[in-house]
Amino acid sequence: MMELRIQLIPTGEIILSPGKNGENYCHGCKPPLVLLVPLHVVASDGVDRVGVQDFVLLENFTSEAAFIENLRKRFKENLIYTYIGSVLVSVNPYKDLEIYNKNHMQRYRGVNFYEVSPHIYAVGDNSYRSMRTERKDQCILISGESGAGKTEASKKILQYYAVTCPASEQVQTVKDRLLQSNPVLEAFGNAKTLRNDNSSRFGKYMDIQFDFKGAPVGGHIINYLLEKSRVVHQNHGERNFHIFYQLIEGGEEDLLRGLGLERNPQQYQYLVKGNCPKVSSINDRTDWKTVRKALTVIGFDEDEVEELLNIIASVLHLGNVQYGGEDGVACITSDTQIKYLARLLGVNGTVLTEALTHKKIIAKGEELMSPLNLEQASSARDALSKAVYGRTFTWLVNKINASLTYTDDSCKHYSVIGLLDIYGFEVFQHNSFEQFCINYCNEKLQQLFIELTLKSEQEEYEAEGITWEPVQYFNNKIICDLVEEKFKGIISILDEECLRPGDASDLTFLEKLEDTVGGHPHFVTHKLADTKTRKVMSREEFRLLHYAGEVNYNVNGFLDKNNDLLFRNLKEVMCMSENKILNQCFNREELSDKKRPETAATQFKASLAKLMEILMSKEPSYVRCMKPNDSKQAGRFDEVLIRHQVKYLGLMENLRVRRAGFAYRRRYELFLQRYKSLCPDTWANWQGKAFDGVATLVKHLGYKPEEYKLGRSATHTHTHLHSPPGGKKYWV
Ligand code: ATP
Ligand code: MG
Repeated sequence: MMELRIQLIPTGEIILSPGKNGENYCHGCKPPLVLLVPLHVVASDGVDRVGVQDFVLLENFTSEAAFIENLRKRFKENLIYTYIGSVLVSVNPYKDLEIYNKNHMQRYRGVNFYEVSPHIYAVGDNSYRSMRTERKDQCILISGESGAGKTEASKKILQYYAVTCPASEQVQTVKDRLLQSNPVLEAFGNAKTLRNDNSSRFGKYMDIQFDFKGAPVGGHIINYLLEKSRVVHQNHGERNFHIFYQLIEGGEEDLLRGLGLERNPQQYQYLVKGNCPKVSSINDRTDWKTVRKALTVIGFDEDEVEELLNIIASVLHLGNVQYGGEDGVACITSDTQIKYLARLLGVNGTVLTEALTHKKIIAKGEELMSPLNLEQASSARDALSKAVYGRTFTWLVNKINASLTYTDDSCKHYSVIGLLDIYGFEVFQHNSFEQFCINYCNEKLQQLFIELTLKSEQEEYEAEGITWEPVQYFNNKIICDLVEEKFKGIISILDEECLRPGDASDLTFLEKLEDTVGGHPHFVTHKLADTKTRKVMSREEFRLLHYAGEVNYNVNGFLDKNNDLLFRNLKEVMCMSENKILNQCFNREELSDKKRPETAATQFKASLAKLMEILMSKEPSYVRCMKPNDSKQAGRFDEVLIRHQVKYLGLMENLRVRRAGFAYRRRYELFLQRYKSLCPDTWANWQGKAFDGVATLVKHLGYKPEEYKLGRSATHTHTHLHSPPGGKKYWV
């Protein structure tokens, strides 16, 4: 395709490509300033094939159809990135584009955001420069549904820093470890799902720490809510976590023999449920090699690797523990697994067998072992597998963190860029406790967006003495409260039911919800619904009206998942483990602690509150990822699917807010420096104050008074340009 570019020359000299009288490049703005930005590229035949690279330039910016058409046009031309101001919208191309090489990285290095085409590197570079020049910690929030490209985006940013930031020998080690933490965490925390062959089944926030020279000197990772249930069950067409298949397919003969494993995933109960041992896009054998190497780079010694693999193998053996028995009393039918388990877990086989078939109860001050029935025994076994795997995963994150902690005092002072790669809003046919937590997390992130952008924007306008035209937006605090409020919120009610002895069940939880929050405008159940809604709801569901749409949650399993209990005697066995990793994962203090452990939802709520605090203290950038189709296919743009994502990512609202205010703001000095050549009075050496220079400049360019504002703090020029060439702070 013939594509003409507007070529930029830093002095302000402009070479234009032919367009419709120059007006294609912008609207509502004076050409000279705006033409500095390559915003709208039109072929010489006058046909606009690539759309606008910033949605704020759309003629019809309130039209969702125009928005989607612009995305479609760009997607067809492999232009997967588009801005809404400083927010980057990205559409997964499902194919390798030649846009992530070193040349590209260099192109974005130190260049103003709007002067090169939109790219994930531009977001990375912009955050890095803000961190360096303003000494303010940054964070990059990446959101989108499963398969939209969040993890790939976060890896690209990390690679960008690894390549472009200054490095010494010591820094090189940190860079390597930062990069190598990805294959390890993905092996243990990612799995093939119906939506994504490499789906992250945990949320991740990663701080990259920089020293005063701007070199990465350390890092820290926080993980959120690993989907532990996957260890014991997978839906049809899905797999367990990658590491199991990598070990079985890639592990050396000796290693497998030692672990008592066969080279066939179909032999293991925990790997057969999804009936999907192989995935065409995944090579478990080469991935195994990558992971093994990465573990060494991160600093695992041979003993630690051995202990880690013993745990992975023991989970597979646990899955194969089969129960039989008469009169409803469970017993283990073969002791082959127990033998392996005793060795791999470093525990006594007899004690383990008893713990897998009995429950310790205390009656009249005496400890008694009460036998479990078949169902109870299977669920005790599965609970142990989940606990072992989940805690090992957390241990792994801690271990990586220790390797990313720098010890050299000379590089103590650092600034931070945080990367958040967390599950997007989820609506499935069947939504359970996990979706409830994930969607609650998205409500919190939306709250943060409102807090950080809309509110702070309003405050800044006031401080600068500039009139603020309020923008209508939905404040979702009401939904956050519904979920998390003390005593009256859904989580509190769930916890209360989990604690209540007697007849508490998932259904009594639902009834309690109806009694307590039944009148809430964002809550509906079958009983409370109108006739139309009732038709599409079952009696076991409650519906939340999220900011992004309605979701029905089935209460089945809510109490169990929230309790996340492991029988005391299983804990006791694990505390005796000679495996050093497990020894750190299960410690004796837990046994003597009389307090009930916090429920899963309450823990999640607390970790989200902490995350919000971390993010609030930083300057945010946003990357909104979208998937173009459900079949992981390159080149297919499914409009219905895209429209849905545009809606729940809140992109139209983003755009409206962005268009309503003064989009472009820059310090007087920088503004003058950048554009002085456009006015004869400022062209040469401007001797006066920068403020006066800017005032002269914008007047000369013919801007009407309502098109720009000069801020009171004398640090900003507020020009009412919808398409900023760059700037200090942006609205998102
Ligand atoms: P989840 O929430 O399930 O973890 P995700 O948003 O993290 O999903 P990714 O794993 O990043 O999704 O992306 C899914 C797949 O899409 C990748 O494995 C890759 O094949 C493809 N993909 C994503 N981004 C890009 C890109 N920029 N270029 C090429 N392919 C991509
Ligand atoms: Mg991911």
